[in-house]
Amino acid sequence: MDLPLDALESRAARTGLMGIPTKVLAGARLTTADCLAMYHSDDVALLGILANEVRERLHGNVAFYNVNIHVNYTNWCNQFCGFCAFQRRPGDDGAYCMSPEQVGAELSNANPEATEVHMVAGVWPALKYPYFLEILRAAKAARPDIHVKAFTMVEIDEIERLANKPLREVLDDLRAAGLDSMPGGGAEVFSERVRQQLYPKKMSAERWLELARGIHEYGFKTNCTMLYGMTETLEERVDHLNRLRMLQDDTGGFQTYIPLAFHPDNTPALAHLPIPSPLERLRSIAIGRLFLDNVPHIKAYWIMTGLAVAQAALSMGADDLDGTVSQEKVYHDAGASTPEVLSRADIHRLIRQAGRQPVERNTVYEIINTFAEGDPVEELCV
Ligand code: SF4
Repeated sequence: MDLPLDALESRAARTGLMGIPTKVLAGARLTTADCLAMYHSDDVALLGILANEVRERLHGNVAFYNVNIHVNYTNWCNQFCGFCAFQRRPGDDGAYCMSPEQVGAELSNANPEATEVHMVAGVWPALKYPYFLEILRAAKAARPDIHVKAFTMVEIDEIERLANKPLREVLDDLRAAGLDSMPGGGAEVFSERVRQQLYPKKMSAERWLELARGIHEYGFKTNCTMLYGMTETLEERVDHLNRLRMLQDDTGGFQTYIPLAFHPDNTPALAHLPIPSPLERLRSIAIGRLFLDNVPHIKAYWIMTGLAVAQAALSMGADDLDGTVSQEKVYHDAGASTPEVLSRADIHRLIRQAGRQPVERNTVYEIINTFAEGDPVEELCV
């Protein structure tokens, strides 16, 4: 669609976004000042129109998803992040740590159509280095065909410390044991001020970025995230996105950006905060698409955004809904009210109703299936 630049700029001038439509339609890079203006503007609809233009330029009418399962192998954690409702100490109510055999059994019993297992957890030093190799081997033994995407940067930091050897050697070991790619989580928001306030034990932004650089240079793809809606300022959100964009210029290793709305329920330190509104969640997706011009995909992670926002986001910058997901615990412990699993038919319905074409992908965005309207998989849609 040819967007009317004059009309867009005239509207942008009234809503604090002057010059941004011209840059977006010309494919020019937005500045950090532009990014801040997008966070300050009330005109989320205009951001959505512009983000949709970029999204369709990159991906046309396609909306990606995959069929995946989650294994959160332990909730033991010694990082004590103030925003986290998932963490437990051994012996606490609800604390658990899966043995390699239990990880294998979980995969054996999981959806046989799943092409990916997403394995992330807390960190606990008593879990020695061989444990991590064993859970990877158990996952691959149970499902040799499945793509194992595992370990946030926080976990990798701990695994490297336990291994007491250079990152490349650790990655060699993990790859040999079955690791195929990494999710890249644990960035939260890079502000040192917020880190000191809410997660002082967790790695610094510099360490996160150093690990991501090393992992990309090694050859693994990752995603990147920002957890927003805690106590960070808008300037701190912009700085976070800018650091991701600068690293991506160097490595090209991020496949997808996933903005994560903070869920305050069950987090004693922050339970008083409001959950980011649906409009704020859509704004975050649109800004991600507009500012991170070097990241191929923007994900509306339905577990966190809610289904309605995820569906609307497909017309405001997002091209990916994540997957069918099952057994997700991290965000549901924090009060996410979304279902714990969607069927393939549910996902198709969401995508079709948004006027998009569902495409099943694998973890690294190779196409597994395209579907004609009325495909048997959609007959389950009601
Ligand atoms: S967010 Fe992750 S690192 Fe922080 S306490 Fe929770 S499980 Fe541990």
